[in-house]
Amino acid sequence: MQTCTPVTWDIQYDTSPTAVRYCKKCKQKTEYISSGEFRVNAQQKNLDIWLIYKCTNCNTTWNNTIYSRVSPQLLDSSLLERFHSNDEILALQYAMNTALLRQNGSEIKLPEYQIVGDDVTLDSDLQIKIRSQYYLPIKLSSIIRRKLGLSQREFEQLYSDRRIDSNTDQDLRKARFSSEVIINISPTT
Ligand SMILES: [Zn+2]
Repeated sequence: MQTCTPVTWDIQYDTSPTAVRYCKKCKQKTEYISSGEFRVNAQQKNLDIWLIYKCTNCNTTWNNTIYSRVSPQLLDSSLLERFHSNDEILALQYAMNTALLRQNGSEIKLPEYQIVGDDVTLDSDLQIKIRSQYYLPIKLSSIIRRKLGLSQREFEQLYSDRRIDSNTDQDLRKARFSSEVIINISPTT
C-alpha cells in the first residue's frame, strides 16, 4: 500500500446501553437505564455490590450485580470508597459493560452514537483508526458505512473486491467493535 494520511474516528455514545428485561410491574419486557448509583449491602461479613437500574416506564429498580458475597478484604479500599460515593466514572464504566449485563440475564439495546473525525473519500488509500473510550458491540460495517455514506451493497462490493481490510483480520461484514481497530481501504484501480 502507498503512503496515506491516517485518520482517526472516535466513537461517542449518546447514552449507556439499556438493559431489556421483564418488568413485573409493567408485566412486559421494558428498558432499564442505569441510575448511576451503586448499592453496597453487607451480608454478614461479605458484601453485595450492585449498580441500580430503573425501568424507564415505571421506575421499578433492578440490581445489576457487580459483586456477590465478596469479602471486603478482597476489594481495594479506594475502590470500595468509589462504590460508596457513587463515583460517576466508575458507574459509567459498569454501565458500559455489556458482558456484565448479559451475565446478569439482560438483553441489550445499544445506544445511538456519533462518529467524530474527518470525513474522507474513497479516491485514495485510506487508513482509518476507529477507537472509543468504551467498546460497545456495534457492527464495524455500520460505523464504516455511515461515515463513508455507503449503502449495504456498496460496502459488500468493497469487501468482495478486497479493497477493505483491518489490522485485526476480522470479517468486516460481521465483526463488531471490541477494541481499537485500523481499517485500510484502497481506491479502485
Ligand atoms: Zn416497569
